[in-house]
Amino acid sequence: MPDLWIDNAPRPALSGATFTTPNPTTGEPLAELARGDRADVDLAVASAKRAFPAWARTDPNERQRILWKCGEGILANLEALARLETLDTGKPITNARTIDVPRTADTFFYFAGWATKLHGETIPVRGPFLNYTVREPLGVIGAIIPWNFPLLLAARKIAPALAAGNTVVLKPPEEASLSCLELARILAEAGLPPGVLNVVTGHGEEAGAALVDHPDVAKISFTGGTDTGRLIMRNAAATLKRLSLELGGKSPNIVFADADVKNAAKNAVGAAFYNQGELCTAGTRLLVQRSIHDEVLDIVVNGARALVPGDPLDPATQMGPLVSEAQHRRVLGYLDVGDREGARREVGGAHGDRGWFVSPTVYSAVHPDMTIAREEIFGPVLSVIPFDDVEDAARIANASEFGLAAGVWTKDITRAHALAARLQAGTVWINTYNRFDAASPYGGMKQSGFGRENGRAVLDEVTQVKTVWVATS
Ligand code: NAD
Repeated sequence: MPDLWIDNAPRPALSGATFTTPNPTTGEPLAELARGDRADVDLAVASAKRAFPAWARTDPNERQRILWKCGEGILANLEALARLETLDTGKPITNARTIDVPRTADTFFYFAGWATKLHGETIPVRGPFLNYTVREPLGVIGAIIPWNFPLLLAARKIAPALAAGNTVVLKPPEEASLSCLELARILAEAGLPPGVLNVVTGHGEEAGAALVDHPDVAKISFTGGTDTGRLIMRNAAATLKRLSLELGGKSPNIVFADADVKNAAKNAVGAAFYNQGELCTAGTRLLVQRSIHDEVLDIVVNGARALVPGDPLDPATQMGPLVSEAQHRRVLGYLDVGDREGARREVGGAHGDRGWFVSPTVYSAVHPDMTIAREEIFGPVLSVIPFDDVEDAARIANASEFGLAAGVWTKDITRAHALAARLQAGTVWINTYNRFDAASPYGGMKQSGFGRENGRAVLDEVTQVKTVWVATS
């Protein structure tokens, strides 16, 4: 039975309580997990607090070496990690093998390098003083993540935090915790001292909320839904915690008539349906210039039809089941709303009678005010929306409470850069979509949250500046 991970050792929840994580492909139970609560979080935070001074003082070269070994440990366990991720989330094993696990390792390799490169400044101030700054770690960081990319999202929080000398308590998603527990074991084997990373599995309202409330947690780094983000922000006020929030999205993917239309339309299918559409940056609003609307719609509908859901453990499968029964119900509920509000369902809907499959679904005749065009569905549902000109495209694209990402397809370089400047989104992709790199900052605007992950930008989020004045005469 997978236990909590505290002080580099597995242990059951203090209460002895457990919960079941199901296999989304079959709906059958997959594993029993420890149901951590406030008492377990207290234990995990106390352990991380104990480990903090020594880890923060560890020679940066040594932290760099250990984090690099973590990356190597992840690659050495690629197959086991990929299999766990697929069994637990339903994502195709080929994607887990080629994206999730290698990118998780990349994140450790990239941030290993930063351990030796975090330094302050000397500042020319008025008077006979030497003035300098140092970057110090915050202390214990609480990391809370969702179920769509458990390994990768955990790595994005753990690696920079540890590189900067913080310690971490991770609360994995209740739907898919198995790979995070295996990750913790691998990182311990790679040389992380006890307490530097603890993992408390359990429910958001219990273990997650306790982490947010804890007075010894300096910061919460959260990825998840916008409503949960709001709640966490309110609860974090009591202890005046730092926060970074990576929240939901409803990203526009804009295709102009002057683009390489076939290529853009083909890519729009992946942009919307990669990872069963359970991707915060999914290009779920496909804005198409009116003159090429029918051509693009045709390619997209055929592309969706070709993505037949199947067993995610089969290497040929490109589309697995949704993660949970609740998510399945939620997505099908949105299809009812789309049908009712008058959008035209070109293809897609529920699939199979076992497990939580939904076929890629494309709606045409979508008005930007319709529910399916406004709300985040977090499943394989694409709305195709026509537009007339650049002004129209920018207006529709920005008329969203979210601001996570956007795509633009055009051969006009001036228009591409002009739109990149106008779009209210943390990331803009030009003639490509869903590109990520540990070196490139990533995060949201508007209700998609604040703070940045990856790249140099995240290091400001996991350190604090101390200023020192020295009298020189
Ligand atoms: P969720 O907000 O329900 O849960 C996310 C995590 O928060 C889980 O670990 C959960 O246990 C925990 N949680 C729930 N209630 C909590 C509380 N009161 N206090 C503390 N923790 C709590 O989200 P989800 O359904 O698991 O994931 C889907 C959402 O995640 C979507 O909205 C998606 O857009 C978002 N997401 C965003 C990004 C990004 O980078 N912006 C990436 C992936 C997913």
